[in-house]
Amino acid sequence: QIQRALRSLCIPLERLHIMKGHMMQDMCKGLSRQTHAQAKVRMLPTYICSTPNGTEKGNFLVVELCQNQVRTVLVTLYGDGNMSPQMMYKIFDMPEGIMQSEGEALFDFIAQCVSQFLAETTISDTGSSEERLPLGFVFPFTCRQTQLDKAELLSWSKGFSCSGVVGKDVVQMLQSAINKQELSRVDVVALMNDTVGTMMTCCTEGRPCEIAVVADKGSNCCFMAEAYLVEMAEETSGRMCVNTEWGCFGDDGTLNDIFTPYDESVNEESSNPGEKRFEKLVGTLYLGEIVRHALIALTAEKALFTGANIAVLKEKGVFTIQHVLDIINNENGTTEVKRVLEVLGLQPSERDCGRVQQICRAVVGRAATLHAVGLAAILSYMCQTRDMETLMVNVGMDGELYKGYSRFEEILQTVSRLLSPECLATLLPSRDGSGRGAAMVTAVALRLAAQRRAVNEVLGPLRLTRADLEKVQALMRQEMEQGLGKHTNATASVRMLPTYVSHTPDGTERGDFLALDLGGTNFRVLVVHVTEEGISMASEIYVIPTAIMRGTGEELFDHIIDCIVDFQTKQNLMTQTLPLGFTFSFPCQQVGLDKALLLTWTKGFTASGCVGQDVVQLLRDAAHRKQHSGLQVVALLNDTVGTMMSCGYDDPKCEIGLIVGTGTNACYMEDMRNVGTVEGDQGRMCINMEWGAFGDNGCLDHIFTHFDKVVDETTINPGKQRFEKLISGMYLGEIVRQILLVMTEKQLLFQGRASSKLQTRNIFQTKFLSTIELNGLALRQIQTILNELDLNASFEDSMLLREVCQAVSLRAAQLCAAGLAAVVENMRENRGLDRLSVSVGVDGTLYKLHPCFSQNLQNTLKDLAPNCDVSFRLSEDGSGKGAALVAAVACRAA
Ligand code: ADP
Ligand code: MG
Repeated sequence: QIQRALRSLCIPLERLHIMKGHMMQDMCKGLSRQTHAQAKVRMLPTYICSTPNGTEKGNFLVVELCQNQVRTVLVTLYGDGNMSPQMMYKIFDMPEGIMQSEGEALFDFIAQCVSQFLAETTISDTGSSEERLPLGFVFPFTCRQTQLDKAELLSWSKGFSCSGVVGKDVVQMLQSAINKQELSRVDVVALMNDTVGTMMTCCTEGRPCEIAVVADKGSNCCFMAEAYLVEMAEETSGRMCVNTEWGCFGDDGTLNDIFTPYDESVNEESSNPGEKRFEKLVGTLYLGEIVRHALIALTAEKALFTGANIAVLKEKGVFTIQHVLDIINNENGTTEVKRVLEVLGLQPSERDCGRVQQICRAVVGRAATLHAVGLAAILSYMCQTRDMETLMVNVGMDGELYKGYSRFEEILQTVSRLLSPECLATLLPSRDGSGRGAAMVTAVALRLAAQRRAVNEVLGPLRLTRADLEKVQALMRQEMEQGLGKHTNATASVRMLPTYVSHTPDGTERGDFLALDLGGTNFRVLVVHVTEEGISMASEIYVIPTAIMRGTGEELFDHIIDCIVDFQTKQNLMTQTLPLGFTFSFPCQQVGLDKALLLTWTKGFTASGCVGQDVVQLLRDAAHRKQHSGLQVVALLNDTVGTMMSCGYDDPKCEIGLIVGTGTNACYMEDMRNVGTVEGDQGRMCINMEWGAFGDNGCLDHIFTHFDKVVDETTINPGKQRFEKLISGMYLGEIVRQILLVMTEKQLLFQGRASSKLQTRNIFQTKFLSTIELNGLALRQIQTILNELDLNASFEDSMLLREVCQAVSLRAAQLCAAGLAAVVENMRENRGLDRLSVSVGVDGTLYKLHPCFSQNLQNTLKDLAPNCDVSFRLSEDGSGKGAALVAAVACRAA
């Protein structure tokens, strides 16, 4: 019988594995918004989003509500890694009956304790008594927390049943009671569970502790979860401590097969049968009871105490955890067992002593093993959700069972290692209970609040309100109008250049064409076949050496002809004369489809003798010099026009082209009657806005931040392309870098130390923003990026970096949307429509690859131009295809 009893208390390893799986499933259930209400493992958000980093300092008051006691603690932190906090305690016994009285009486009593404690305690180094004294409130009951300082009591437990508290905000109740005591300098800043306090206590020397297990009368655990998984809280970035409330694990029956008859008896006799089934297997409140029921059952089966009177065992609670611990902790024989049993009034034989000891060991060993199952579930869950192959983590430990049972730690380590071999947990004993931890939570909350204010101050100027964006939209409308006006054109910052493209494709275009693409990242020559079956092409990329970009115009165009000849030779096209479309992505004053005066170079080109010249003529001259006679240049176009045309081939509604790549620009179909700079009033013409220069006349000065000004000043064209410098790929990374430098200087990042790499211009690439802003699993990549910049980043640094990138890319998308809103609203009004339905052809790597840019752009546009239905089409090879289509449309028209 003894063997059978012992076996029933021993859970096989594979069953432990299954149990761990169930625990993980239940954790997910508790975290999910949909299933949270039914979940047994509640996974309550605590709104504690950071662990101490050791810089915390100041005086903090802690009040801890315990069983029969109120503990008050004053903790002074010195910003020294929390190595040597100064602590002063006072413990107050609770008056008889107050645990069942009115809630107000309980909180008044707590406030009196605080008042009395403060009266007796001299607080060191606070200059004035005016100084605020933040208070952390340790409240070990199940609460629905909605902020760090807002928590509604869900239910009392542990013998408390004060009226009028359930459903109320207990922080508010405590603060009111404190105010009544005229302790107006005391602010209740944080409320937390004792488990959380334990976790925080174990964070010293900047060594994070991200799990705590309290193995006490009850049992509970908390850990730092990825915030976006904690769906009950609004936080989506960073981490948040979750109070698992794992004591209720198994209340839905998942543990039924491991319950022994002794467990069932304990459960039936408890005040809450059917609830807290896990806790009733592992909490020290129950372990003595389990042993007692086992002894009763075994005596009935005549396996113990034969013939003796065991009436004493019938009394609930006689067998305490202390008795159990005394029995099992003593390794030398059974003398101690005998003593304990005799004190209880039993007369054990030598054999009884041995058997009782075995039963006690089995019951407590099982409790330790089950703690390990829970811990393993947390470990594996953290490892998986952090996308790590291995996890190393510190676990704060506290509680009567942990401290009292000599083999607890060993079992917890070994079993959790077996169940979660990918994780390595280091157990840290909590020394000063939850009091110091509560002070640290409070301190961290204040540190974060101060940091939040400082971050908002830095990022505030980049955050645009709706009114700001409406103003940008209105200014763009104004500048567009100026740019189109015959007499105002010269002073407008948006040039609104006519392109002499008056039709978008209709899909009937056919033929073979040559195309050139200059002004993007690469110079390319293409041959494009437009057939009934669709468009196909072949192309070759050619390098333009910097020496040629910055040499003479003749050298540049000679080089271009050389490339064309090379391409035609390779493609066997030397004998044919194909119409050529030239995508030339620099601002040009076009006077015909094949006549375009270069207004200014951009993007690093400076070839001499070109500005003011007809680019098509420069190309023809070079062909002439090179004796290349088979060149028929039909059209010169901007890449925005190419993009619009290429999308227009498949979508007749596509009347806008947008580029968000190295630079940004847009074009759209404008009514000729509005184009004051070209003769004629009939039909439409595509206008190349050159909107990158929007603001160059000062009209956007109010939105430029310090960072924008610094970035602008360090470019090769200061004061120029001001709108582009807020939006496009060439600049966003550099804006982020400038912000990082300022934040580091303000000690908000990287512990105030910027690496010399970070101080290098343009080292922070815009593509980093894409990686960093990718949600979910990108944390490791953020670390990789930062490591490459020689920056040693904490988790919080990574989160802040993401926030900076988000602010910069969001602003870029919003500004781009404001520009587009001006365009579509202008089209809608011109056409006298209540609603406009239009498509935008888009090209550019930033738009295409950034994870949020296009969505932010579209959302903002919908908001700013609610009467326009705008759809976006990605252009594929707009420059090549578009150039061919412009040539085709031109040939057809001719
Ligand atoms: P271009 O505009 O010169 O034709 P692209 O459209 O390819 O060229 O845009 C190049 C720009 O895109 C570069 O300035 C670069 O900063 C940016 N970029 C490159 N990769 C990414 C990425 N993954 N996410 C966001 N931006 C990127
Ligand atoms: Mg391009």
